[in-house]
Amino acid sequence: MADLDLDLEQQKKSRKRERDEAKKKILKKLAIKQEKESILIHDEPNQKKKNKKNKDVNVVKSKEEEEEEDNGQEEEEEEEEEEEEEEEEKGEETSGNGIMTGETFESLNLSDKTLKSIKELGFKFLTEIQAKAIPPLMQGEDLLGAARTGSGKTLAFLIPAIELLYNVSFTPRNGTGVIIICPTRELAIQSFLVAKELLKYHSQTVGKVIGGENRKKETEILVKGVNLLVATPGRLLDHLQNTNGFVFKNLKYLVMDEADRILEQNFEEDLKKIIKILPMTRQTSLFSATQTSQVKDLARVSLKEHEHVYIDVDEGRKEVTNEGLEQGYCVVPSAKRLIFLLTFLKRFLGKKKIMVFFSTCKSTKFHAELFRYIKLDCLEIRRGMDQTKRSSIFFQFNKAETGILLCTDVASRGLDIPHVDWIVQYDPPEDAKTYIHRVGRTARGEGAKGKALLVLTPNELQFIWHLKAEKIPVEQHEFEEGKLLNVKSFLVKYFCSFLKGLLH
Ligand code: ADP
Ligand code: MG
Repeated sequence: MADLDLDLEQQKKSRKRERDEAKKKILKKLAIKQEKESILIHDEPNQKKKNKKNKDVNVVKSKEEEEEEDNGQEEEEEEEEEEEEEEEEKGEETSGNGIMTGETFESLNLSDKTLKSIKELGFKFLTEIQAKAIPPLMQGEDLLGAARTGSGKTLAFLIPAIELLYNVSFTPRNGTGVIIICPTRELAIQSFLVAKELLKYHSQTVGKVIGGENRKKETEILVKGVNLLVATPGRLLDHLQNTNGFVFKNLKYLVMDEADRILEQNFEEDLKKIIKILPMTRQTSLFSATQTSQVKDLARVSLKEHEHVYIDVDEGRKEVTNEGLEQGYCVVPSAKRLIFLLTFLKRFLGKKKIMVFFSTCKSTKFHAELFRYIKLDCLEIRRGMDQTKRSSIFFQFNKAETGILLCTDVASRGLDIPHVDWIVQYDPPEDAKTYIHRVGRTARGEGAKGKALLVLTPNELQFIWHLKAEKIPVEQHEFEEGKLLNVKSFLVKYFCSFLKGLLH
């Protein structure tokens, strides 16, 4: 029995390795392509990893780590410990967090072409949402699917879409047979790339139309015939209304990913119009990690009445977030928040991959500029940035092993960025649902681990009750003022090196 366990464990490990390799290859390919197309505005954060041992005396340990460490230890030893811990974590990554089933993709009766690309992506077994959603979707049923973040919803709607196009032998002349609507441009780009991989051995065409990109180029490819189209709502509506030669009368299947977000204020109107324009006789599916009554309302108007399948793989779970996710919060007085964040980021700079969420574009921009000014290397993603730059930064952070990304909630939905270690919420989220999506950018997929830290001011503390009411397990970490970065010596050091730079 022990041998069998060991065998399974090894199989899991090698599957995970294969998957990571495949993912890295794809990302590398894409990043190279992206780099050719756009200007990179930052240094590669990866370089920092080489300096792992170059300690900065001003780096103070985050409280979370401190709890696990002996106060009297030397920093060097602590770093070694941290590296060991990291190795251990990697080893543990295969322990599973309950999203996988024993069913294989081979058992699904898929075309050889699709199976071949799935194998190349390194996937063998289905996740729970995939096992439950793919068969009814391949039968042509409408479906409303809920499953936690990082549980494999993308393949759950893409595989049936591709099989459908293949089975009815869609050609470019037939126009668009599948439309996938995503709430953000980055998510649309990501889903487009996964669809492209899955369609690698098929003759069917794939394309994307997203805000901020060259509309004329999009029109050209639409007119040529895009069988599977990934889109953001506004740009899709624009093309549906204004692009002559965009053939969508043959639409067979409509997917709305992150459906609850698509229904929020700014998208709702567009969506109503889109649904009115699209052919009525089609299959529809809605997916999200968080369902709201609005989604059910949308299901009522957009799915076949009384006939659609409802799947919630997490119903009855004690926690709504992933098992591999360690979640904490820290109450920090307003006046100390910035220095607290700086201390945290300096501590992990060059060692971890961190996403920091802010509530507004202005605040994200301000902090990014400030951090860069004091030579704390960071990237930013927010609205109001040129799309080429936004995409380039997205790819850069995707392929980086370590680094800091400052962002708004534009990055909170659906993005599957490899190996994010920390999600820091510098500004609290609007609600528990947004919290779930933000922290869902880490601990994604089978057995993955990640950490999340929510920074609250004393009068925001009530927010914790909302989280607990929503079955989100968060632990309090003590705020220790004495551990904060010494701003004075930090600035003195910064200006000294600045002056030295000027003199040389
Ligand atoms: P969701 O949309 O549910 O948040 P994604 O579809 O983005 O999740 O998938 C999360 C991660 O899990 C991705 O990195 C994806 O490659 C991986 N994944 C998806 N399906 C499988 C599978 N069957 N086996 C292993 N990993 C998978
Ligand atoms: Mg998703």
